[in-house]
Amino acid sequence: MRLRPHHALCIQKFTGHGYDDRFTEHMTEICETLQKFHETQVNIIYGCDELCAVCPHNRAGKCATLEKVEAMDAAVAEALGVEAGDALPWRELAARAREGVFETDRFKKICGSCEWFDLCRTTKI
Ligand code: SF4
Ligand code: SF4
Repeated sequence: MRLRPHHALCIQKFTGHGYDDRFTEHMTEICETLQKFHETQVNIIYGCDELCAVCPHNRAGKCATLEKVEAMDAAVAEALGVEAGDALPWRELAARAREGVFETDRFKKICGSCEWFDLCRTTKI
């Protein structure tokens, strides 16, 4: 599964809220798959990924909020010690996101400006 770095955070904090019904349904399927199959291989990419595929903010393969998203991806990649082209099991990526972001003050620094931050901040994983 191809994922951009910051989606390693969003997937773990997902509680069924998305940009529209199609996006939410698709994200629910992805989250359920990864919860069930921890060893799923994740390929890190910078660019539109599996979640972006049906996002209403995906404009011909580019995120409409690209600048913000690229900054988040860069910060998360650094915190998790991954880069584009890396491949690792979801279990490992998720653990790095918990230890490298959620359990540190990086969480607020990276996600503080996101519209979902209050929801994610209070969502237990
Ligand atoms: S605050 Fe935004 S970027 Fe951070 S995990 Fe939640 S949805 Fe993803
Ligand atoms: S297109 Fe942009 S807003 Fe939509 S899921 Fe991808 S990164 Fe997030």
